[in-house]
Formats: sequence, C-alpha cells, structure tokens
Amino acid sequence: MCGSVSVCLSVFAAWIAIAESGSGNEWGYEPGIGPSTWSLHYPQCGGSSQSPISVDTASAVLDKNLTAFTFSGYDNVNNISMSMKNNGHTVQIDLTGKLMTISGGGVSDIYRAKQFHFHWGSEDRRGSEHDINDNHFPMEMHVVHYNSKYDTFEDAVNETNGLHVLAFLFEVGTVNHHFDEIIHHFYQIAHKADHVNLTTFPLSGLFPGDLKVYYRYHGSLTTPPCSESVIWTIFKETIKISEDQLMKFRHNVHRNYANETDRDISNDFRPTQHLNHRFVYASDTSAIYKPISASGTLVPSSICIIAIIFLLFVFTW
Ligand SMILES: [Zn+2]
Repeated sequence: MCGSVSVCLSVFAAWIAIAESGSGNEWGYEPGIGPSTWSLHYPQCGGSSQSPISVDTASAVLDKNLTAFTFSGYDNVNNISMSMKNNGHTVQIDLTGKLMTISGGGVSDIYRAKQFHFHWGSEDRRGSEHDINDNHFPMEMHVVHYNSKYDTFEDAVNETNGLHVLAFLFEVGTVNHHFDEIIHHFYQIAHKADHVNLTTFPLSGLFPGDLKVYYRYHGSLTTPPCSESVIWTIFKETIKISEDQLMKFRHNVHRNYANETDRDISNDFRPTQHLNHRFVYASDTSAIYKPISASGTLVPSSICIIAIIFLLFVFTW
C-alpha cells in the first residue's frame, strides 16, 4: 500500500500518464477510436509519409530497377507453421519456422515473412486500403516482411526500410479454393483472442499469376503505431475470390470477445493518406495508364484534349 495519500495520487497520476501515452491505447475503426483519432496517442500516424494511398496510374513513374522478386520458401509446407488468430481488428496468420524470404524487386536487402492479414469491407465497393484511381476493392491482403539484417520484427519496425509489405487487391470471381484452409477455420476464431493452428499450405498458392507488374512507394504501417518504415509493393493483378467467400470474412469473425454481443469485423481499413512529397513508381509500362471512367467513357481530361483538337481543326479550316 502507499505510504501517504499524496504518494498514492502521484503513483496513480503516473499510471494514467503511462496508460495514455503508451502503446496500449485502444484503437479501432469505430467512432471514437477510429483512424482520425489515432495520431492523438500514436504521433507517427500524423506523419507525412503515411499509408495507405490512392495510386494514380497516370502519374506513376516507370522505374526499370523494379525487377522481378525471388520468393524463397513460399512453395514449401515443410517446417513452416501457420497460426491464425482473431486480434479484434483482422484475421492474421503468423508464420514461424523455416524462413520464407523475398529478395530482388528493386530492393537490395532480403526480407523475412512474418505474418499476413486482410482488410475487407461490408460490401464489394469498399474494403481495400489502397485504391487505384479512386477505385476501391472488396478486400486487400498484406504479407508483412522485416529486413533480415535485424533479428526481429520489433527491431526493424522503426528503422528506415525496416519493413516490406506485399499488398494484393481482390476482385469478386469464382470460388478460390486456395483460401479454404483459412476460411474453413473461421468458426474456431469467431471471437477476439481466439487462435488456431492451420495445416500449412504454400503461401504462393494465394498469389495471382503475374508478380512482375507492381507499384512501389515508401510509406507506413496502416495501423498504430503507423511507423514510416515500410517499402510498399502493390501488385497490379488482383486475386479473385467468390462473393460467398467474402461473406465469410464479413460475418464469421467478430471484433468482440466471446462473452460480448457479436459485432462483425468489417470495414477495417484506414482511409487513404496524402501522398505529399512522394512518388509512386511502376515496374512496367502496362501499369501506367490513364483511367477509364466507370461508364467506360473517357475521363474529362481526355475529352478536353479531343475538344481542343476539334476546335483547332474547325478554326484552321
Ligand atoms: Zn494491413
């Protein structure tokens, strides 16, 4: 017990200060604890190189140094463990055991895979964190790596180029059985803090066919503490998954503990952040293009150019 009331109050005040400034503050995607409040307790979330961003494909800069990746261990299942958990924000699969690494891709260091997780929406027109020309996707998968020159993820998280996240966007298609092992175990992680060991599957099976065409920029973690240490790679080709499978993400995992009223994890994405001084690079010219509007018509800037050419034609005649 405390020796005096004043000492007690001092200790209590210190405890409050630590609780409020520390990394233990509750954050989420709901009113009151949503993304607009994160920087109050996690100052890096208010930084100038934050993620996600909107990729403007017409402004992307071709970088021929953005070569193909070498994936090591991504086809293996031996000596790799996959543990899936519900952390109240997402479904996350932790990778342990034999190293899975990426190299190449225009980056000189080797990065180790640590975990992968998903962001999804309550309906198809939202869910991804990154968007392409303001078009959002129903889901996005992040495969999180840390620089192998550090011993642990925690050592790397605040270092320049400490992390490398591979981002994959999803589109609705037919059933994708590569996701069966994940989705079929959702009933075992229905509530926050639940976890289950999966039968290891080759992580490369989740990936789309073309991994050579991608966007690159420097940004941050999209969740607190929003560390600005992330090399981002966003692949142009999407992963296809069925509407039924998406519905399992939307309704079979909840953000609450088991003894609380069920609330779906949905719309667990951070809004796009300002690009500020940064550039987005593309590995291939096919990733640099002027967007077509939703109706399939040309965008206004193209219409303007056509109108100017037409007027020039009329007046010169
Ligand atoms: Zn993420």
